Amino acid sequence: MERTAPTADVLVIGAGQAGLAAAARLSSAGYRPVSLFGARNDATDRPAPSAGAVGSGTAEPSFAVVDANDAAGGAWQHRWESLTMGTVNGIFALPGMPVPASSPDEPSRIAVPAYFRDFERELGVPIGRPVRVLAVERVDTAADGLLRVRTDRGAAVVRAVINATGTWNAPVVPVVPGQDLFRGTVLHARDYVSATAFAGRRVGIVGGGITAVQLLDEVSRVATTRWYTRRPPVFREGPFLPEVAGVDVTRRVAADVEAGRPSRSIVSYTGLLWSDAARSAQARGALDRRPLFTSFTPTGVVEQDGSSTSLDVVIWATGFRPDLAHLAPLALRSDEGGIPVVGTRVAAEPRIHLVGFGPSQSTVGANRAGTAAVRELTRMLDGRASADEARQPRSAGETRQPPNASGATATGGRQQRAGAPGDGIAGG
Ligand SMILES: Cc1cc2nc3c(=O)[nH]c(=O)nc-3n(C[C@H](O)[C@H](O)[C@H](O)COP(=O)(O)OP(=O)(O)OC[C@H]3O[C@@H](n4cnc5c(N)ncnc54)[C@H](O)[C@@H]3O)c2cc1C
Repeated sequence: MERTAPTADVLVIGAGQAGLAAAARLSSAGYRPVSLFGARNDATDRPAPSAGAVGSGTAEPSFAVVDANDAAGGAWQHRWESLTMGTVNGIFALPGMPVPASSPDEPSRIAVPAYFRDFERELGVPIGRPVRVLAVERVDTAADGLLRVRTDRGAAVVRAVINATGTWNAPVVPVVPGQDLFRGTVLHARDYVSATAFAGRRVGIVGGGITAVQLLDEVSRVATTRWYTRRPPVFREGPFLPEVAGVDVTRRVAADVEAGRPSRSIVSYTGLLWSDAARSAQARGALDRRPLFTSFTPTGVVEQDGSSTSLDVVIWATGFRPDLAHLAPLALRSDEGGIPVVGTRVAAEPRIHLVGFGPSQSTVGANRAGTAAVRELTRMLDGRASADEARQPRSAGETRQPPNASGATATGGRQQRAGAPGDGIAGG
């Protein structure tokens, strides 16, 4: 039987960069953090206040945060070992707490979760984890009615949701005939740990983004590699100026998602930078790109020209999609398959904001999206705009969510990692 529903005004789903930024902004806006599903603040082990009644008319509206992971760090705790603080694109600080200095050799999967843990401790917000949201549904047909959130730990009823679920759990894996026959190893980049596992083997790496190039550089040092992409990769010559290219990329990604088109891989907007990894892979002859193979055989793949290539391993470095399956009951998708948004707000459902989505899929973008979502949502919930008003498109002069460095980095000026958004092979 379903447990008695705990309640809060706003539920933040996901405690990565985007969810934590939104939680910090809700806290600053006077929203009281409450505990759902027995959440405690992991960092302090501080007991959390329990949830109050929704719309109870108390002076302090409330919010809660849940996350499916066991520990702090969002997707960063799962990044591969060789993605170090020296090779990430740049980590933008969470609101009010600078990213501590770290050695360039320190794995980002250690350094960033430690930083998030410290941030959670300072923020003092209980995170319900591990709690996986399975579905968000409308309780009734009223435009300003409640939303029921079903999780693997019970259900909650809330007035609005800030969705910050990232992309890590929705890897894009192309369907190529014959994969069942292949006797080698097939994995997605999300399950890659380090090149040493492939020493001396024949490895096909599929994908046209920064991840594929980075893996090619690493794996080709210890193994024989073949690089496959669906389309010829477009390398970008000359310097990448985040202040110019980032704004332009953000504008184009935003235009796609606001129109309800699924956003494409970041690399398809930016092109590939001649990074250090790309240059060293090229020097080793590893950037000899082939068109995506047409099928698998038991011992390898069939190339587009009909010849066969023996492979022991195929790595899909083919990107990720927004992880939004739990929103399916709300039927938010357009005919084109995307979820039309205005800034962070779902155009057809103002009670839902998507952060870390579309143009805000970077650490800097996630921060700004958290701020924008909270500003708009609190205005609606505090009664300064009705759900119906909120559903209206912005007027022409109204500011859009600020540009961010989706196509660039916050700190290093290096290229944003490809393949976060997208419904196809990321850049391949
Ligand atoms: C390999 C890789 C490297 C990257 N490097 C950089 C970089 O260097 N700099 C940069 O700015 N950006 C980088 N990015 C983009 C990066 O994804 C964002 O910057 C940012 O970290 C994403 O934060 P997020 O909060 O949106 O998502 P996440 O960090 O993925 O957090 C989402 C959270 O939501 C939780 N969640 C998901 N589904 C549910 C559910 N149903 N119920 C409850 N909880 C749920 C997850 O457990 C997770 O903790 C990189 C992306 C990839 C894939």
